[in-house]
Amino acid sequence: MTRAELFRESEFASGSVGDIFRLIRSGAASSRSALARHIGMAPSTISLRIDSLIRLGLVSEAGDEQSRGGRRARSLEVSTGAGFVGAMDVGAHHVQVGIADLGGRMLAVEDVPVAIEDGPALAAEALWAALRGLIAANELDEAQLLGVAIGLPAPIEYPSGRVVLPSFMPSWHNADLPGLFSEFTSVPVLVENDANLIALAEQTMGGQSSDQLLAIKLGTRIGCGIVSDGRLHRGAGGAAGEISHTSVQGTSTISCVCGTPNCLESVASGGAIVARLSQLGYDVQTAADVVELGRGGDAQVVDILRSAGTSIGGVLASIVNFFNPRDVILGGAMSASAPLVAAIRAELFQRCLPLVGNDLDVRAARSPGDAGVRGAAHLILEEVLAPARIEQLVRELDDTTPA
Ligand SMILES: [Zn+2]
Repeated sequence: MTRAELFRESEFASGSVGDIFRLIRSGAASSRSALARHIGMAPSTISLRIDSLIRLGLVSEAGDEQSRGGRRARSLEVSTGAGFVGAMDVGAHHVQVGIADLGGRMLAVEDVPVAIEDGPALAAEALWAALRGLIAANELDEAQLLGVAIGLPAPIEYPSGRVVLPSFMPSWHNADLPGLFSEFTSVPVLVENDANLIALAEQTMGGQSSDQLLAIKLGTRIGCGIVSDGRLHRGAGGAAGEISHTSVQGTSTISCVCGTPNCLESVASGGAIVARLSQLGYDVQTAADVVELGRGGDAQVVDILRSAGTSIGGVLASIVNFFNPRDVILGGAMSASAPLVAAIRAELFQRCLPLVGNDLDVRAARSPGDAGVRGAAHLILEEVLAPARIEQLVRELDDTTPA
């Protein structure tokens, strides 16, 4: 996909049909009168634009909503039958595939066996087959698939989606998943860093969402997603948040492509802890195995987890002091380890400035089991339902409708 084809960050006019759909989708306004108040436009103009959205099948008007004057206003909602999106979260040992409706509700999420070590071409084939299987199992029509987003534990060049020097999957360097998927489908396919997807999922899950947050993915590797002023911050080329190659105290147990001696990832990631415990004779393969072993309370294991947590907390303290987030969200398999998380919190709060630490909330992801696919669904919905794309659909509809 080229830069010109990306819609999600494009500008839109207030009160345009795309903007109206955005407000309905976000829940900011859910009736014709509420939209007219929110935008400050004549109700008749708003109504014409809503009619276009209804004719496109994107919005339905249902039920009765109690309006302020006691009059009944019909409520507007995103049509669930207008299509759906695919969402994938690819980890070193764990792949999840999901589908979501246009309102962002996950319709199905499934763990699938995809061997990423076989390289991107075979993995893309397996991921596409898994998504088609899930679509069929849920009795959905594949023709209504509007787009797909895929999370990967690697730096992702933005906006091309190209994978850059993934430390755990050397054969994936330069992988072009959107290009590989174009063999199977013509819908937009986006690729995003997995920690960025956790950040998006947390920011959009409602409740006490924060507009200033860091999401730390503690899996086989370590990643960080940044939301600043309510927007995902990718940096100039997509590498923002690559905290894992900072040099730390301690000794690396795995090799890393970054070239920094004793980088955080090679000392304290789930993969590094697996390697250290294996050297000591423990039977562990994955980050989840390490968490389980830590639960047993083995003193040596707990010690290794604490020391990894101290390293991670130290690196986090620097970036927290620099960025001053409201929330630090911990996700990924290793975030289920109590000794690791306790050590991260202790080191972080001890080393961050009072002005930064006073309002800081360090917590687990709200939906750790599927945060990656939720974030992926959000990302692709923002793209396929971007106001500029909706405007285009309405123009096409007007061109084909007799006056
Ligand atoms: Zn490194």
